[in-house]
Amino acid sequence: MFLSISTTHQPASDLGFLLHKHPDKIHERSQSFGKARVFFPEASVERCTAALAVEVDPIGLIRRKGPPGQGFALEQYVNDRPYAASSFLAVALVDCFSTALAGRCKDRPELVATPIPLELFLPAIPCRGGLALLERLFAPLGYAIDITERPLDEEFPSWGPSRHYGLKLSGTLTLSDALSHLYVLIPVLDDDKHYWIGEDEVAKLLRHGEGWLGAHPEKGLITKRFLMHRARLSRLALESLSDEGATPPDDAVLDAAEEATEEKLSLNEVRLREVVDALVESGATSVLDLGCGEGRLLKRLLGKRQFAKITGVDVSPRCLEIAAERLDLERLPELKRQRLQLLQGSLTYRDQRLEGHDAAACVEVIEHLDAHRLSFFTRNLFVFIRPRVIVLSTPNRDYNVLFPQLAAGRFRHGDHRFEWSRVEFQQWAEAAASQYGYQVAFRPVGPVDPEHGAPTQMAVFETNDFTTKARSPRKECEETEAG
Ligand code: SAH
Repeated sequence: MFLSISTTHQPASDLGFLLHKHPDKIHERSQSFGKARVFFPEASVERCTAALAVEVDPIGLIRRKGPPGQGFALEQYVNDRPYAASSFLAVALVDCFSTALAGRCKDRPELVATPIPLELFLPAIPCRGGLALLERLFAPLGYAIDITERPLDEEFPSWGPSRHYGLKLSGTLTLSDALSHLYVLIPVLDDDKHYWIGEDEVAKLLRHGEGWLGAHPEKGLITKRFLMHRARLSRLALESLSDEGATPPDDAVLDAAEEATEEKLSLNEVRLREVVDALVESGATSVLDLGCGEGRLLKRLLGKRQFAKITGVDVSPRCLEIAAERLDLERLPELKRQRLQLLQGSLTYRDQRLEGHDAAACVEVIEHLDAHRLSFFTRNLFVFIRPRVIVLSTPNRDYNVLFPQLAAGRFRHGDHRFEWSRVEFQQWAEAAASQYGYQVAFRPVGPVDPEHGAPTQMAVFETNDFTTKARSPRKECEETEAG
């Protein structure tokens, strides 16, 4: 199967930079189902074309897939998979062009955000739903569409048309947007996927649909097909997408904006991994997730048997509902279910349900608290909750200048009350550590810029002292909170 991407933006050979592929070379990457190759049939100053050719190993596929399903007897040998654009092509696209998809380019950073004339060509795209669907999916994204119908067999025109079309899309847009459109819409047109769909597929859809899917008139159909008609997953995705359109300051909208700023680095993923690693390293067996939001960290913690007791707490009942859905609480096996509790509550008040845990995570929460609430929270955390280990992260404001789409002086999220520089964060953390008898160490999270540090800053606090230091501030806190 085959996809080509051409531009006449000059110098056109910059397409090689944008795709992170040298136009003079053939780039080959192995896939679980075969091989993907990227090469440049033309690369002049006026016009440049990159081609992605994916070879599917049909025998390997049969071996992996096991016995044939309900199709006709030879379907597993005689099918369109080797040439039709499908989820195989989408997976190869992400694998070969991940940096371009994420909108990163060291050598031509300004070009990443620049709409350029692009022509995308798919010689054989299957389309369940007929020709009209191609229009319905691509026209709202601003493409001019040129469709070639393919007969089932050129020698026997009376057999009629096949369900495969030649599709040429032309438009002026950023390369990363064009790649995102293809990644999402190719399997949607085919209405099939070659791999098992789980919840991470929802995250993929939201990530790659960022900025266009929410407003697409066919978002319902796109979501349903992308998620292989799995009702629960589609509901989850559509909820997040419809939140995108709600009037601000809706949390989900603000979250989406923050993710849009940070997403290019997949920072959320890196952050959660670092937090989980720190918690695992700590040897804790009971963990609190303070401001657990929609339960992304909880889900990962639940996957680790080390954590026998996991408590997620958030002030927002809506977030907790989404977390329960994301964790599929209703259907968790009883033993797993018993390890987890979700609590609605505020972090700025003493709450005995939060006490008695070995460790606490507090990921991207403190920046949502007003200054006076932050001081209540600090005392509540270090005095009452007082876990042995605290893993706490917050954005590093020093890094904001490196987010091209973030205006100077703006925060990453509309609900942030502050974003601290590294010095400010360390001052706060060291003061708290010394006042409440903890050791603190700092870890950068995400790619470290030599001048501006990492996008997220994380502190890991640890104490062995559960009595003495706690005593006098405990009283102070009770008084403050009661007032
Ligand atoms: N830790 C999550 C969510 C971060 S967003 C993640 O990394 O994905 C911040 C979260 O803190 C939101 O879910 C918000 O509802 C919660 N929050 C803000 N103020 C709070 C408070 N005073 N008490 C409890 N939760 C709070």
